Amino acid sequence: MAREQFENPAPIAPSFFGLSRVRLAERLAGLGVPGFRADQLYSWVYQKHQRDAGHMSNLPAALRRDIDSVCDLRLPASSVFESRDGTTHKFVLHLHDGSRVESVSMRSARRVTFCVSSQVGCALMCRFCATGLMGLKRNLRADEIVAQVMTMGDALQWRDDRFNIVFMGMGEPLANLPAVSEAIRILHDERGLNLGARRITVSTSGLVPQIRELAAMGLQVGLAISLHATTDELRSQLMPVNRRWPLEELLDAACEYGRTVGRRVTLEYTLLGGVNDSMEDADRLAAFARRLPSKVNLIPYNPVPGLAWKRPSPEAVDAFAARLYPHAPAVTVRNTMGGEIWAACGQLGGLSPGD
Ligand code: SAH
Ligand code: SF4
Repeated sequence: MAREQFENPAPIAPSFFGLSRVRLAERLAGLGVPGFRADQLYSWVYQKHQRDAGHMSNLPAALRRDIDSVCDLRLPASSVFESRDGTTHKFVLHLHDGSRVESVSMRSARRVTFCVSSQVGCALMCRFCATGLMGLKRNLRADEIVAQVMTMGDALQWRDDRFNIVFMGMGEPLANLPAVSEAIRILHDERGLNLGARRITVSTSGLVPQIRELAAMGLQVGLAISLHATTDELRSQLMPVNRRWPLEELLDAACEYGRTVGRRVTLEYTLLGGVNDSMEDADRLAAFARRLPSKVNLIPYNPVPGLAWKRPSPEAVDAFAARLYPHAPAVTVRNTMGGEIWAACGQLGGLSPGD
């Protein structure tokens, strides 16, 4: 079911969505407009969800008229696909250079989660991932990351004042840390969406230096590590990044992150039938999980066309989880949402219903 929303941009000034409040104030200062106008603009856009400057009644007429020379308030055009049960939506944003980027919103009984992309494609070539098959096209800019959140919020009419954001869409967020961290600061702004650090999680395949860099930034966001194997031999086969930063180094960095930020690190484990789902794997995974403040998130493999991996049977998933429970601090099995619209984990890569 596709609905199209077109608001097509021809770039003029920089996108509003990539401007921190300080940078927006600097641009306004160039026109002789005082800094508090930046606060007002932030409030209109992020809190009142008004993007038409003509309706921003407390701004001076001249600023309303000339806003296009300060910033571009438009969002990229987008298409949206809805899952049969209506809980999951996949959004495809059409970026100015023709790139397409995908984001997913998922509603469960307790919350709404927005899964956002950080790159067009990905360079890391994990063998089970649709995005990995595309190669890296380019990094997203901060505004293109914030725009994904705004597009999803608009589509859901901002009915949820509490939502979580996970950087688990296309791309490796820590390979694009400058733009990802800038977007997080913008999402975090108390005069903007005011999204607390506890509501944001960054998932990485294991770029060790950038894990440390992220900790040093003091953003306090949650960290998820894509583990997926319990031996270096298998992990290096599945995820080439392991050859550069093997398990020991990765777990040390994850542990340090958890301690610095004071949060449990999520260990993500995609279950590939007959590959990494043995009882020995479960025991080794439990031992890893006990080494650091952590929780384990099991993700049954989501099929990717052209790849031969198999999702384990529900019984095998249960057996793996049951083996972990008594030995690992916290274990959850991720519900697969949005498989039929190619919106589940690892399926983002330009596939849409009908492909
Ligand atoms: N690049 C980041 C974040 C995006 S992927 C990372 O790798 O962590 C989000 C999660 O889905 C990761 O844990 C990833 O390994 C996992 N994943 C990738 N392909 C998958 C697939 N086909 N089925 C299930 N999970 C998959
Ligand atoms: Fe990139 Fe993550 Fe996919 Fe690996 S799993 S190829 S790091 S997006």
